[in-house]
Amino acid sequence: MTPHHDLLLSWIDDDRHLLVQFLSDFVAKPSPNPPGDTQVAAAFLHDGVQAQGAPVAYRTAKPDWPNVVGSFDCGSKGQHLVLNGHIDVFPAGPAEGWSHDPWSGAIADNRVYGRGVVDMKCGTAASVWTYIYLHRLRDRLKGKLTLTCVSDEETGGTWGAKWLLDTFADEFRGDCVLNGEPSTPGTIRFGEKGTLRLAFEIATPGAHAAYTHMSKNAIRIAAELVRDLYTLEDLPVPQTDDVRRAIEMGRAAMDRALGAGAGRILDRVTVSAGVIQGGLKINVLPGHCRLEVDIRLPVGLSHAAILAELANITARYPEAKLSPVWTHSAEPSTCDPNHPMVGILQRAVEALGYAKPAPVVSLGATDCKHWRHLNVPAYVYGCTPNNMAKPDEWVDIEEYLHVVRTHVLAAATYLA
Ligand SMILES: [Zn+2]
Repeated sequence: MTPHHDLLLSWIDDDRHLLVQFLSDFVAKPSPNPPGDTQVAAAFLHDGVQAQGAPVAYRTAKPDWPNVVGSFDCGSKGQHLVLNGHIDVFPAGPAEGWSHDPWSGAIADNRVYGRGVVDMKCGTAASVWTYIYLHRLRDRLKGKLTLTCVSDEETGGTWGAKWLLDTFADEFRGDCVLNGEPSTPGTIRFGEKGTLRLAFEIATPGAHAAYTHMSKNAIRIAAELVRDLYTLEDLPVPQTDDVRRAIEMGRAAMDRALGAGAGRILDRVTVSAGVIQGGLKINVLPGHCRLEVDIRLPVGLSHAAILAELANITARYPEAKLSPVWTHSAEPSTCDPNHPMVGILQRAVEALGYAKPAPVVSLGATDCKHWRHLNVPAYVYGCTPNNMAKPDEWVDIEEYLHVVRTHVLAAATYLA
């Protein structure tokens, strides 16, 4: 526990209205990706940090997609903690269904509403305020704190976290990462499933619908291929004892967080056929069909293992040409479920009167993977994903403040 516990919590209490207004104003700076222009929202963060007297700068790979970063050394030598969040959010979609303008940041019913408020402006705001508060305390802390607010997470991180790590590894690698992606207050994420996206083009000669003797039907081949791809869900998954134990213990927490069944697929392959396009007309036997499939890999399986199994399946369908979609594919990632940061987060959450959060693996992907792939442990603790990627996305104000308090206390303890 940090010796500055009471002081930090009193700052947050005093700033309550400021913190809530900050999140509302951040949501009111639209940053949908696509198209991905985050300049206004990034400037809001940059200027907000600067106004609080902490060092901050832009590091930009792609002109309209600026990353906001900052770093400071504490009073004595110690560990380097990196705070990470993203600025870009999902598009808002059609206006119908939203009871508040998606870019209003409306405050109502003890909630903040708007596109991106849970994924992940709540968590990014927690990172920003953690950085600001700990900067005030820097002479009494050890080590180094770095802030990374990135502008490309929703489309894979190429111009955000991955670019920062590839280009300025010494500055942004750190010893440990804390991220506020939505996770629910009952879980800490130490790993995440991987993604493998596949596109198939199926080509046959085609024919009149009455002349089925002349050509195979490309849609029928696609249907049979889909059925076979779903057998990948039965693949056995080799896992280390540490990961297996943590997943077993986290299943119930994942069911509570994300609905019944979430815990069961933590350590399974899942397949989702997402797009199928083929055919011209009811009386034309289709000679072309396109199929796109999203596969999620549990920790313990690699792309290579899936592709090897896939080769056995595709060998039965010579008319189907496979191309993996690497831009949105990522290997699963994991780090130590028993790392000190996990205990630090658990004790911080319990001290705030919440139940002890369970370490779990995430079903979806985050930028933490870019650090874990470099063997830097990276942990996620964030809000409940209420209506994530749907109309009327919202965060409970008390829960947002809880996430801020947890990040502030955990970071201060890690740097004590
Ligand atoms: Zn996110």
